[in-house]
Amino acid sequence: MTTVQTPLMQQYREIKARHQNAILFFRMGEFYEMFYEDADTASRVLGLTLTARNNGGAAEVPLAGVPVKAAGDYVRRLVQQGFRVAICEQVEDPRLAKGVVRREVIETVTPGVAYSDDLLDGGRNNFICAVSSPVRGAGADLVGIAAADVSTGELRLITTPATELDPLLARIAPREILLAVGSTQPLPPSRSDALITERELWEFDEALARDDIARQFSVLSLDGLGVDAGDGLAVGAAGALLRYLRELQPAGLPQLARPLIERPGGVMPLDEMTRRNLELVESLRGGGSEGTLLSVLDRTGTPMGARLLRHWILAPLTTRAAIDARLDAVERLAGDPAAREGLRDALDDVRDVERLGAKAAAGRSTPRELRALGDSLAALPAVANAVQRVATGGRLAEMLDAWDDAAELASHIRATLVERPPIVVGEETTIAPGVDPDLDALRELRDGGRDAIARIQSDERTRTGITSLKVGFNKVFGYYIEVTKSNLHLVPTDYQRRQTITNGERFVTPALKEHEERVLSAAERIEARERELFEQVRAAAGREVARLQGIARVVAELDVLATFADVAAREGYTRPTITDEFDLDIVAGRHPVVERMMPRDKFIPNDLHLVQDARMIILTGPNMAGKSTVLRQIGLIALMAQIGSFVPAASARIGVIDRIFTRVGASDNLVRGQSTFMVEMSETSAILHTATARSLVLLDEIGRGTATYDGVSIAWAVTEHVHEKIGCKTVFATHYHELTQLADELTALRNYNVAIREVGEQILFLHRLQPGGADRSYGIEVGRLAGLPQPVIARAREMLALLEGEQLARGEQLGVRAPRKQPASTDQLGLFAAPPHPVVERLASVDVNAMTPLDALTLLARLSDEARRHA
Ligand code: ADP
Ligand code: MG
Repeated sequence: MTTVQTPLMQQYREIKARHQNAILFFRMGEFYEMFYEDADTASRVLGLTLTARNNGGAAEVPLAGVPVKAAGDYVRRLVQQGFRVAICEQVEDPRLAKGVVRREVIETVTPGVAYSDDLLDGGRNNFICAVSSPVRGAGADLVGIAAADVSTGELRLITTPATELDPLLARIAPREILLAVGSTQPLPPSRSDALITERELWEFDEALARDDIARQFSVLSLDGLGVDAGDGLAVGAAGALLRYLRELQPAGLPQLARPLIERPGGVMPLDEMTRRNLELVESLRGGGSEGTLLSVLDRTGTPMGARLLRHWILAPLTTRAAIDARLDAVERLAGDPAAREGLRDALDDVRDVERLGAKAAAGRSTPRELRALGDSLAALPAVANAVQRVATGGRLAEMLDAWDDAAELASHIRATLVERPPIVVGEETTIAPGVDPDLDALRELRDGGRDAIARIQSDERTRTGITSLKVGFNKVFGYYIEVTKSNLHLVPTDYQRRQTITNGERFVTPALKEHEERVLSAAERIEARERELFEQVRAAAGREVARLQGIARVVAELDVLATFADVAAREGYTRPTITDEFDLDIVAGRHPVVERMMPRDKFIPNDLHLVQDARMIILTGPNMAGKSTVLRQIGLIALMAQIGSFVPAASARIGVIDRIFTRVGASDNLVRGQSTFMVEMSETSAILHTATARSLVLLDEIGRGTATYDGVSIAWAVTEHVHEKIGCKTVFATHYHELTQLADELTALRNYNVAIREVGEQILFLHRLQPGGADRSYGIEVGRLAGLPQPVIARAREMLALLEGEQLARGEQLGVRAPRKQPASTDQLGLFAAPPHPVVERLASVDVNAMTPLDALTLLARLSDEARRHA
C-alpha cells in the first residue's frame, strides 16, 4: 500500500508552513517528494511527471519526486530559474522511529545563497544584497546596502546616495535582493533579473543589527570593524541579511570575512548605460564577454584574480593616490618581465583559495578540494619569491611585509591527505599512511585478511585440483569461490553453494567467511576513521577561514596587477599620468578592443585634448568614419587609467574624473530593442542632473530617436546646458552637422571631424580626428560602399538634390536660418514658410544631372551673388 498517511501529511504541512516561499524537497526514503503547488511547479519547470497520492482517504494529493542521487541537478535547475529550494531531511533513523520519522529543513538554496560549483561561475561573485529604505542624509537621500557572497565569505557594507543605487547594483549584480516589506525604495528596473525577497521592516533596524554583527565577528563594538556612525543604514541592511542567511542555513551561518566598508565618493559610479555602451564586462551583442574591455584585460591566472578584475573594472578609483599606488605596482612588474612571468607561473598553481576556504568552513569541501586548498597554499611561497625583487616599495612591498601563507595549515593538510584523494571518503584512500596508528593497524588487518583470502585461492586449487578455481567478490554475496561447470564434480563437501551462474557455480567456506568478516569490518572501521580524521583536518582549515580570505585577497590583487603589467607589455600600453587638474590629454590613443580586431598597426591612433576653455567637442563625420570608436576610446582610456591599468596611447595625462557618462542615441542603441525616444531622453536627463564639472560626458548621436528638428533642437539645448551649467569635459558625436554652429556661440566648444578623403565619387575613411566640422553627411556614398545597386545610388543622388532644393525653397535649411543667440525652437523651425524666392525658382528649374561640374560651379557663384543681393 502506497498511501500517504495523514500524520505524514500533517508533518509535511507544518514544515511547509514555515517555508512558504520555497519549493520543499521532502525526503522520503530514496526520493525527495514535492506536493501540491510545489509538485505543479516542479513538474512544469523540471519536466517531471505529476502523479497523485491518496491522503488516507481524503482528497488526492498532487505529487512529484526526484531521486536523492540526482537531486543536485534538479536543485540547480530550479535555483537557476529563480526559485528557492528547501531541503527537508529525515533526521532520525527510520528503523528506530516511533510513528512518523522526524524531519527538518537542513538548508535552503536560493539564487543568492549557493555553494555548489554548478551554480557558481569562477570568474564572478554570487552576491546577495540587502537594501535599506532611503533616509534623508546630509543633502541627499542615502541608502545602505549589505552584500554578501557566501561562496567566498565576502561581506561589503556600502552607503550611497539613493540616486546611485542603480549604478551600484549594476556593479554588484546581485542574484537576490532583500527589501523591507512595503519598502519605499523603488528598485531600478535594470535589476529585474534578481530574485526579490521581502523581509520585515524591523529586521533592518540598526541597533539590533549592531549587536548581531558584533556577536558575529566577536568584537565588543563595531568600531573595531571600521564601521562608523555614518554607516548605520548599511549596518541595518547587514542585520537583515545575517538574519536571512541564518534562516537558510540553520546549522550555522556561513563564515563571513570582516566587512569591507564603502562610503560615497571612493569609487566612480558607473550607471547601467555607461557600463553597457562602453562594453566593459558584457558585449552589446549577446551579453557575453567577447569584445569587452574585460576580455582584453582578463589574463588572470586565478578565479580570485578574475573576480577582482571584474570588480575593479566596474569600480574605478577616484583619488589620485589610490590610482598611483596601483600604477606604481604595475609599472614595477611591467618593467621586469622575468619577475612578472615568475609571478604568473607561480599563480598558476593557486586554485580558488577563497571558495575552497569558505567550503571548508561550511564543512562542505570534499577530500579532493581540501587537498587542492593545501596545495594552493603550498604554492604561495613561490608567489612571494617571484614578487620579492620588484617589491622594493609601495603596494607590493606592503603586501610582502604582511605576507601570510598559512604554512602550518598547508603542511597539515598535505601531510594528512594522500596526494590525490577521492571525491568521497571511503571510495579510495583519503588519509595518508603514518598519520594515525589506529588507522594503520586497521589497514594491516584488512590487508592481512585480503592476503589470507588470496592464499585461499591457491590453497584450494591445490586441495581440489581445480586449476581454474578463483576467489571473487561482489557486493551482494561478499567473497566467494567460483568453479566452472566442467569442474563441479571435483567440489569438496565442505563447500556451501551460494549462486548459480551461466557457466558455473559460486561457493563459500567457513574459512573464507571468517576472513571476509575480518576484511569487511576492518574496511568499515577504516572508512569511519578516515572520515573522522578528514573532518578534523577540514575543521582545522575551516577555523583559519579568516586568514584564508586575507590570503585570497592578496593573491587576487597580485594576480590583477601582474595581469595589467602583462597586457601592457603585450599590447604596447603606457602608464598614464594621473593629476588633480582638469585636463584630459591623450596622445595617439587607441581603442583597446577595436584595435585588436584588425591587423597590428592598422588602427589609426588619435589625439585628444580637453582643457578648461576648450572642454567640449562636437564631433561630426559621415557614418562609418569612426566617431563612435573615438568617443568610446576616450572613455575607455580614462576608465582604464583609473582602475590602475596602463592605457593604449603613446601618452596620457588624466585629471581624475569623478564619473563617466556614455549615452548612445536610440537608433544606434542596438541592444535594448526599445528604441524609444523616451528612454533616450530620460537617460540624458540623468546626466544633466548628476554630472559635475569633473565628469566626462560622452554622447553619441543623442537626439536621433526623433524627427530631425526635434532631435537637433534637443541636442542643441543639451549641449548649451552642459556647457553653461555643468562645465564638464564632453564629446558629442553627431551626424547633425548643423550643430557645428554652436561653436560660434559657446566659447569652450570646438568642432572636430573624422577625416575622409574623396577620390572621384569614392570616399576613403581616414579615421583621423581633425579640427573643424564636417560639411555634409555622405550618407549616399556610405550606401554605395555598403553595396546598394548602382541605379539605386543614382536615384538617391537625384532625390537628395531634389530634397535639398525643396528644403532651401522652404527656407528650412538650418545652416541658413538657425538664429544665433536664441537657439531654434521646433515651432520656429517647423512652421517657417517663406514665399518663393527668385533664387529658389531658378534652382528648381536646374537639371543637375545634365551639367558639367564647371557649369554647376558657375551657376552656384551666380546664385550666391543673387542671394546676397536679395538678403
Ligand atoms: P561612426 O560612429 O562614425 O559611424 P564607427 O566608430 O562605428 O563609425 O567606426 C566604423 C568602423 O570603422 C569601425 O567598426 C572600425 O572597423 C573602423 N574604425 C573606426 N575607427 C578606426 C580607427 N581609428 N582606425 C581604424 N579603423 C577604425
Ligand atoms: Mg556611430
